[in-house]
Amino acid sequence: LPMTQPANEALARIRAASSLNAVLSEVDPSEQLQALEGRLGSGEALPLAGVPVIIKDNLNLRGTVTSCASGMLAEYRSPYTATAVQRLMDAGAVIVAKANLDEFAMGSSTENSAFGPTLNPWGEGRVPGGSSGGSAAAIAARLAPLTVGSDTGGSVRQPAALCGVYGLKPTYGRISRSGLVAYASSLDTVAPFALSAADLALMMGVMSGQDPLDATSLQTSADFSAEPLDLAGLRVGLVTQGKRGATLGVLSALEAMQTTLETAGAEVEETSLPHLDNAVATYYVIAMAEASSNLSRFDGMHYARRTGEGGATETMIQSRETFLGAEVQKRIMLGTFILSSGYSERYYTKALQVRRLIADEFTQAFERFDVLLMPTSPFPAFRLGERSGDPLAMYAADVNTVAVNLAGIPALNVPAGFEELDGQRLPVGLQFAARAGDDTRLVALAATLE
Ligand code: GLN
Repeated sequence: LPMTQPANEALARIRAASSLNAVLSEVDPSEQLQALEGRLGSGEALPLAGVPVIIKDNLNLRGTVTSCASGMLAEYRSPYTATAVQRLMDAGAVIVAKANLDEFAMGSSTENSAFGPTLNPWGEGRVPGGSSGGSAAAIAARLAPLTVGSDTGGSVRQPAALCGVYGLKPTYGRISRSGLVAYASSLDTVAPFALSAADLALMMGVMSGQDPLDATSLQTSADFSAEPLDLAGLRVGLVTQGKRGATLGVLSALEAMQTTLETAGAEVEETSLPHLDNAVATYYVIAMAEASSNLSRFDGMHYARRTGEGGATETMIQSRETFLGAEVQKRIMLGTFILSSGYSERYYTKALQVRRLIADEFTQAFERFDVLLMPTSPFPAFRLGERSGDPLAMYAADVNTVAVNLAGIPALNVPAGFEELDGQRLPVGLQFAARAGDDTRLVALAATLE
């Protein structure tokens, strides 16, 4: 078969790098390669012909296990393929593996995986970020040239920052969610990792577009290109709140970016978005509420693994206690509490109101600015175990990313240098956000800064 070599080389690299634990399962590419041969033979021009791709293991690929890094779905085989994944294969891509993640995409370090944490290829003993840490580590270690994750509150941008690669969270609805295992449906997006702006443009062009299987997918299309922008006159808002808790290395990367932009003629102006101070609390209330509803299907009766003797209720309780991890159980319980009668007005309804304030604040900011700039994460890759015992320390990784999902707008992580910590050289990333629908500007900006 003509396109066998790239896939086989990717699989060889995946095996050689097994100590990273970036990949949960390999996909046998032979069926895909056969289909590809036929299509190439008939003269079809395929933009991703033969390109190996690794996808996060919460994206369905027919006939393969989609574990969501959970004991609950460890044996679950997908009966269908996610639209975004199908579009990659339609463009000629060959899916070679499923990547590790925090269980059900809940986390910021990939330490919540039932199959062990993924390691950051940049620094021994460091996390890759999360929840798409497997996809981020895999592309950073060059196991595949393109990988896919999902971003509900930063799960592509933050690991992209900690692993030194591009990660783009699209406008909500830009890429179909059909076949992505739902975490928090009003926030979930399928999102690409890439090593260059050109690759980002290619992936976005292939994966995005309306889908009858996702009623929230956008009808408007976008033309992605890696043509650089003219930075002269670009209005950039430097978000004051973005500096909260940032390390010296992150702050100096931000300053260097400001200088780069200004030298090229952009107008950079600091701007305060006070409602961002409430973004983490608001995000976790909404995400947990939606998660408790979405995950109610994993009860050992309708879906997934079952254990326990006795009646249905007992079986459900035992199945969930046995097969769901601690973080997932905690979020289901908190989400259930947040939605319960007597409390939902106090927490859930309140969070929806603050979500509106945050979204409006962004809308107003985009009347004055073309893009907003802030660090993606306040700090580079942290050590394994450093934050896992303290939920608030872990959620601090998300201060700059979650507001973007609450507002539904697109945002991009751009690699922006390194910070030396304890003798390790660790990547730093910066985040550019744009108004809803303006994903193409972010890709063009990436091309300009390359
Ligand atoms: N860290 C955030 C959370 O745990 C974001 C996760 C995500 O984007 N999937 O919810």
